[in-house]
Amino acid sequence: MEIKKNYINGKWVESETGRTLDILNPATGEVIGVVTHSSAVDAERAIQAAKTAFYQTREWRDMDAQTRADILLKIADLMEARADELARTDTLDNGKPLRESEGDISDAIHCYRYYAGLVGAPEGSTYQVNQGFGKMHSYEVREPIGVVAQITPWNYPLLMTAWKLAPALAAGNCVVFKPSDLSPLSTVMQFEIFEQAGLPAGTANLVLGSGTEVGVAFSSSMDVDMITFTGSTAVGQDIMKRAACNVKKIGLELGGKSPLVIFADCNLDAAVEWAMIGFLFNQGEVCSAVARMYVENSVKDEFVKKLVAKMEAMTIGNGLENPDIGPVITEKDMNRILGMIETAKSEGAKVLTGGYRYTEGDCAKGYFIKPTLLDCKQGMTPVREEIFGPVGTIVGFDTEAEAIALANDTEYGLAGAVFTENGAKALRVTTELRAGITWVNCCEPTFNQAPWGGYKMSGIGRELGVHGMEEYQETKQINIALEPGAPGWYVNG
Ligand code: NAD
Repeated sequence: MEIKKNYINGKWVESETGRTLDILNPATGEVIGVVTHSSAVDAERAIQAAKTAFYQTREWRDMDAQTRADILLKIADLMEARADELARTDTLDNGKPLRESEGDISDAIHCYRYYAGLVGAPEGSTYQVNQGFGKMHSYEVREPIGVVAQITPWNYPLLMTAWKLAPALAAGNCVVFKPSDLSPLSTVMQFEIFEQAGLPAGTANLVLGSGTEVGVAFSSSMDVDMITFTGSTAVGQDIMKRAACNVKKIGLELGGKSPLVIFADCNLDAAVEWAMIGFLFNQGEVCSAVARMYVENSVKDEFVKKLVAKMEAMTIGNGLENPDIGPVITEKDMNRILGMIETAKSEGAKVLTGGYRYTEGDCAKGYFIKPTLLDCKQGMTPVREEIFGPVGTIVGFDTEAEAIALANDTEYGLAGAVFTENGAKALRVTTELRAGITWVNCCEPTFNQAPWGGYKMSGIGRELGVHGMEEYQETKQINIALEPGAPGWYVNG
């Protein structure tokens, strides 16, 4: 099998270590790719390439806005031409149903187009000031930050790549990038497309490898000006500590434990369908999964009955066959999720459906879990901790105030959803939710135009939208004295 390489300073190179890493298909356990397994030395080479490209060569940074936008648009066009191959690769690598991968690739393509449109858009403010030194004209300019390091997780391989690279590049930065070592193959294709589209050498550099070697080298580097990371809160905390070495700017998109609040006055059939998407989409391996469900007690039994019936009818299988749900990412994660279900049972939770490894037919070879619903009490482990698998919890409530208190009883704050036909109630509850993204009578959708990110331990900063671009820019204030001559400030000097 061809070894997939790093892309550093416009060249495809193997790690100096000569090591390789097998990439597995979670549906079958088979090896589907081999990538070079980089060290801190490789990471440093990439950082120096980006540093030279940003501070010395300056080709990307100084390129006129239209040409830079044209290259981003060309990247999108080339992705579109390889869309089927990209989607298939993400399904093989991650396990998700093919139609979900196709949706991801479409979103990733539009992410480049969206940020191409923001290159050179009007930005900043101007002020006329006169505060003791005569009239001045003050204006802001936005500049790229410099060398940006980016690290992504495995659950949305190409989409997370696009969410990070498109705005950082649109803003004129040079990037060093590390995808997850579990699902890096579509990111390698993304960099092939960068080369084809004419992105100048050193502008975007790819380093394939582990978090503990490459990731730590990025966060500890004195030559990295900013680091943006999507992944677990524990790793985010480690990055934050290391980033302090040179006071790097940081952007963190971390874990979640998001609530779904269902009031008795909602359209219950619609709520059931949205709930399925909310906690089972992408096998439940979604940072914003609303897997912590709170249901008004008067409709709880009915909601559970309808939800369980639908969950039990779901097809499970290899993502290439487009089932309702695919495998979880690794054997280790499967065992962790099953362990969480056992913990829940030992704490008194009742398994309403699922709760076991699914091994029918060919599924015996992969890492499949039967979609699971647990009847819980607030405070139980599966209600507190991120599960990141096809497992939801149900807790009942009686009043709006109780629902809000339960929903906010978490250290995370990524997302939250509320189902009710009462508009004022929806407004009150979403206003009270301490979360960065909230949904009314729906859950899960994200948009390239709208900012994405969390409160509390779910992160710092926002991705997507105009905010997402601004995260990758410094703001400089330029003040110009409009009155000629000396200010005449010191009486005796
Ligand atoms: P993870 O934190 O284990 O790994 C994420 C990335 O960090 C990988 O590329 C990994 O190699 C790297 N890494 C690991 N240790 C590192 C270190 N010490 N320094 C630097 N990099 C390191 O997370 P994961 O298992 O890949 O993804 C699941 C997590 O990601 C979940 O907690 C999920 O909620 C979160 N997530 C959040 C969002 C969001 O937008 N908020 C989106 C997707 C996933």
